[in-house]
Amino acid sequence: MDFDVIVIGAGYGGFDAAKHAADLGLKTAIIEFREMGGTCVNRGCVPSKALLAAAGRVRELGDAAHLAGFGITAGALQFDRQGIADHAAQLVATIRGNLTKTLERAGVTIVRGEGRLDGPQRVAVREASGIERVLTARDVIIATGSDPFVPPGITIDGETVFTSDDAIRLASLPQWLAIVGSGYIGLEFADVYTALGCEVTMIEALDRVMPTFDPDIAKLAARRLIEGRDIETRAGVLASRVTPGRPVTIELVDAASREPVETLEVDAVLVATGRVPVSATLNLASVGVETQRGFIPVDDGMRVLVGAEPVPHLWAVGDVTGKMMLAHTAAAQGVVAVENIVGGERRIDYRSIPAATFTHPEIGSVGLLEAEARREAEEQGYELGSVRSYFKANSKALAELESEGMLKLLFRKDTGEVLGAHIYGLHAADLIQEIANAIARRQSVRELVQEVHTHPTLSEVVEAAYKQAAHALAA
Ligand SMILES: Cc1cc2nc3c(=O)[nH]c(=O)nc-3n(C[C@H](O)[C@H](O)[C@H](O)COP(=O)(O)OP(=O)(O)OC[C@H]3O[C@@H](n4cnc5c(N)ncnc54)[C@H](O)[C@@H]3O)c2cc1C
Repeated sequence: MDFDVIVIGAGYGGFDAAKHAADLGLKTAIIEFREMGGTCVNRGCVPSKALLAAAGRVRELGDAAHLAGFGITAGALQFDRQGIADHAAQLVATIRGNLTKTLERAGVTIVRGEGRLDGPQRVAVREASGIERVLTARDVIIATGSDPFVPPGITIDGETVFTSDDAIRLASLPQWLAIVGSGYIGLEFADVYTALGCEVTMIEALDRVMPTFDPDIAKLAARRLIEGRDIETRAGVLASRVTPGRPVTIELVDAASREPVETLEVDAVLVATGRVPVSATLNLASVGVETQRGFIPVDDGMRVLVGAEPVPHLWAVGDVTGKMMLAHTAAAQGVVAVENIVGGERRIDYRSIPAATFTHPEIGSVGLLEAEARREAEEQGYELGSVRSYFKANSKALAELESEGMLKLLFRKDTGEVLGAHIYGLHAADLIQEIANAIARRQSVRELVQEVHTHPTLSEVVEAAYKQAAHALAA
């Protein structure tokens, strides 16, 4: 064998798998045909958070009423679109460079080219020059990630109609931008573009905006993140045809009846309708694997499955598996795969993986949605507990003049085990981690309520919820 482990794809999943394998002394290669770092570093988390960091400052410094509350008056605010775009591009270059160096230092062989399976334990790599060679490895990890999904009828030109791949370049600030999709990517870009002065129309096929969020959190968050901004929404409609140009035309049809509703003419359209796995060119048939809508079936130990049976020495991690498509999920799956390659018995615990939306303010969630928890409670015969704590009762939030926000905590009323949490409010993305850790340990609010939280911090919002929940158990 040429290697102990070959990883196909150098996104977050592939990176963590390769690094961990090399750290454990395995002879490891990683194959990548685009930029090192994959979606997160080049087209996802990293540049979008850089744009959001700048947009957040513009929003805050431009909010005279908010500043006046602190006794501050700021002068006329100016920003430079290209400067903000450069900040994102610079950050991408830095993180991509660091990540590549980390792999090199760990002793991972970086192979540039497109990888595909060539039967069991064999990977064919086509280099940019067209030369193809076959590498062998005891174990192969597929980490080929995902690309933006573009629904049929929508034509992308990369300038007036684009996906997040282009939006992160912030090449222009269209006066009127339509965003198709109100998931976390659509919301984050709505935050960026409205802070920078664009008007946004958000188009959602389901009957309410933010359909994937806890409904109570979504309702509260939408008041500020959508209704409080220059954003109008159209829910229950599909963008059936989007034609690039100046203007861009969007034909909207009713999502249920498919009857035409209206045609909009806007300056640009961002298509944020989800992501599709990158698996079509992997030659999975050579090992008998059938995908499910392109996603590679895996067990919780990250073994690739044919039916219920694992394929020997074949693993898949990250977005291509379709499980909680987030960078930290991909990374965690990568580590689990490698631990199992060296004989471990690790399983990924999706319930304790948090998710965050980095709007201003943020949204964080972990574990079960309330509807899922209710179903589980009925099936398993326990009573579901649900408590809410509010940022308006928190000293730190009040000091920051950011007292809007809520935490909903879901727990078992018999054992006190925490089942899920949903937060909207200042730094919710950081706050959710504490509850994710508690879920990972399957802790009860009985224990959690004994943990002392620093005063005054936002973490006391979590403490207040634990106290209420513990009280509800005792009652
Ligand atoms: C706008 C946006 C914002 C996001 N923000 C966040 C966030 O804040 N937090 C978060 O956790 N997640 C975020 N995500 C999601 C996150 O980017 C993905 O979940 C993560 O990148 C998945 O990692 P991966 O390793 O599975 O795949 P990818 O990052 O997609 O990497 C796969 C790599 O494989 C390569 N590849 C594919 N096929 C082959 C082949 N045949 N041969 C060689 N190489 C190949 C690709 O070029 C790519 O580099 C965001 C995504 C987007 C689009």
